[in-house]
Amino acid sequence: MKKLKANQLGPWCSFCAPKTERAVYRENGFASTFACSEHKSDLAQHEKREAEQEQRLTEADYQTWMRV
Ligand SMILES: [Zn+2]
Repeated sequence: MKKLKANQLGPWCSFCAPKTERAVYRENGFASTFACSEHKSDLAQHEKREAEQEQRLTEADYQTWMRV
């Protein structure tokens, strides 16, 4: 999770109702999930879920390669 710079005003929080709250944090990587300070923990959970999902995919790939 990265904190947006003050001059990076723009994205809206992905967890609030549309266009109600400006984001303060953004997800790592290329995904574009944003969160305001209220939803910081929601974004953290979202990142954790994505990381777990990615790990499962990696494991599945590995097993596929092992069978070849
Ligand atoms: Zn929010």
